[in-house]
Amino acid sequence: MDRLALFDVDNTLLDRQAAFEHWGADFLVAHDIASSEFSTLSSIDNDGVTPRDAFFAQVKERFGIATSLEQLLEDYHRAYASYYPAPLETIQALRKLRAGGWKLGVVTNGPPSQLTKLDAAHLTSEFDVVCVSAIVGIQKPNVGIFEDAARRCGVDLRGWMVGDTPGTDIEGGWRAGLRTIWITRGRTWAETEYKPDANAQSVPEAIAIILAAEDTDPS
Ligand SMILES: [Mg+2]
Repeated sequence: MDRLALFDVDNTLLDRQAAFEHWGADFLVAHDIASSEFSTLSSIDNDGVTPRDAFFAQVKERFGIATSLEQLLEDYHRAYASYYPAPLETIQALRKLRAGGWKLGVVTNGPPSQLTKLDAAHLTSEFDVVCVSAIVGIQKPNVGIFEDAARRCGVDLRGWMVGDTPGTDIEGGWRAGLRTIWITRGRTWAETEYKPDANAQSVPEAIAIILAAEDTDPS
């Protein structure tokens, strides 16, 4: 029986979009920039895809901020994790799954500071393993990072991957032979080569799908 459930972090376990909006609003006030410029920040951020040093280099130039790039990055890394709320419903759903004998893992592309975010949101202890690409040395959608998660959980790579990004979470899970659940964030699926096994609006909804599938599996 499949007993491994893997989860992405940003905009899956944690509401990265809300965290960025809150952080951005505070950043604009702190640097005496009009709140209407949030759209500029958001555009440079590109949903978190822009590396932070490149992000702050562009923000500094665009708004003529005198603070050094090093200081901007230091301020950001010190404060950013605190903008992630602890999602109680997510924690409750994860505990229900884990209580059923499942191994739970985090598989995230990003820097080691992903660990700080998970700690700040009180999520680290809810998982058997946390795989961060910069630490593991392999990124989604490469199968190796999923293999690393299964190996460290002491189980076969059979189960589920839950995430919001088609090209990393869903393609990666599919290539690894996992069933996949796409956190849609209001979007419509567009890829033709592969598709998720199910769609969900949230992690609790995804976990309900996993548990319902378990009930109907012949194994
Ligand atoms: Mg994500």
